[in-house]
Amino acid sequence: MLAMNYRGPYRVRAETMPDPVIEHPNDAIVKVLRSCICGSDLHLYHGLVPDTRVGTTFGHEFVGEVIEVGSTVQNLKLGDRVIVPFNVFCGTCYFCQRELYGNCHNTNPQATAVGGIYGYSHTAGGYAGGQAQFVRVPFADVGPTKIPDELLLEDAVMLTDAFPTGYQAAEMGDIREGDTVVVFGAGPVGIFAAKSAWLMGAGRVIVVDHVEYRLEFVRGFAQCETVDFKSVKDMALHIKKMTDWLGADVCIDCVGCEAAGSALQHLTGVKLKLQGGSATALHWAINSVRKGGNVSIVGVYGPTFNAVPIGNAVNKGLTLRMNQASVKRHLPRLIEHIQAGRIEPHRVISHVMPLEEVADAYHLFSSKLDGCIKTVLIPPG
Ligand code: NAD
Ligand code: ZN
Ligand code: ZN
Repeated sequence: MLAMNYRGPYRVRAETMPDPVIEHPNDAIVKVLRSCICGSDLHLYHGLVPDTRVGTTFGHEFVGEVIEVGSTVQNLKLGDRVIVPFNVFCGTCYFCQRELYGNCHNTNPQATAVGGIYGYSHTAGGYAGGQAQFVRVPFADVGPTKIPDELLLEDAVMLTDAFPTGYQAAEMGDIREGDTVVVFGAGPVGIFAAKSAWLMGAGRVIVVDHVEYRLEFVRGFAQCETVDFKSVKDMALHIKKMTDWLGADVCIDCVGCEAAGSALQHLTGVKLKLQGGSATALHWAINSVRKGGNVSIVGVYGPTFNAVPIGNAVNKGLTLRMNQASVKRHLPRLIEHIQAGRIEPHRVISHVMPLEEVADAYHLFSSKLDGCIKTVLIPPG
């Protein structure tokens, strides 16, 4: 089959690789119909995630058609079209029983923090990803959700990660009616977090980024205010000025370790201080929220060490919540929002490209070129 193949930082290509096979009776093989590139893939692409091995296939956001099932699979049949959550999870462990699918204990042999994730390095279990023609889906009775007939594939693929993650980011912010919510990052996750904040009763939503076309998009898509951080000297002061000197009720980090800075370093050759993944957005979130406020973090911090202004967080009495999204838990509600016409997730897609052009697709997304917000890859056949 054709699949994305990682060759080292900033180097990926489409290549012929072995077809996946059923390895366990509860596996399924899914023919990928649409897959996406995520901001999380950029951390891998930039070489920021430990144990990202050359020769592996990325891709944790994909929808497809079931073409083979193992002998014990009961909930899926050939021809079913499915949303596959980015989490690989068993459904029965301590964490899965509490709907913490992102923390499943049985799908990541290293079992340190994160559970299994498709195409996300050996620190997340070493599963092959879906930027490919076919992919093996373990625990096939548990993860996949059938795509309702009337749902566009382009909406369905947004439900594998970006929309549920943005939604959970807002949910972890514990937004109260009328709250002022500041979202850091106007990538797909931040865009969905902003939209979700309104769905949860926010009174004001402000999105911070420095990529002007993304800020323009989110103003239209989520009817929010925006701040271009290039024009701001002191972020906390700026947010305070915007909020009668209180600070925001809720701040949400949808940035993570600095993909943007890392990409800039690559393009310009200017050496930036990035060791350990500097956490500017997280600093801004902690410093811009009001005393007693909530900070929600879904941004991914690849390296184990990151500088966090924990003293400020303690002194301000903040509530910090964070996690990998537990995708499956949100799907019924999010499908309902789409069917009711409250949100059109596919509008976030800026580029649709053949899988053969995966190298260009990564470059575009990483460099924030050509108005790129979200890229969908279509495998051949
Ligand atoms: P993205 O790269 O498309 O967007 C990130 C945006 O942040 C960019 O537009 C960038 O310009 C902006 N940015 C950079 N530094 C900033 C700063 N200091 N302040 C404000 N904005 C800044 O990525 P995405 O797909 O939207 O994902 C966003 C983050 O969420 C990534 O870290 C990704 O790994 C993470 N993520 C987490 C989960 C989860 O389950 N927790 C799931 C998906 C993605
Ligand atoms: Zn993702
Ligand atoms: Zn589990």
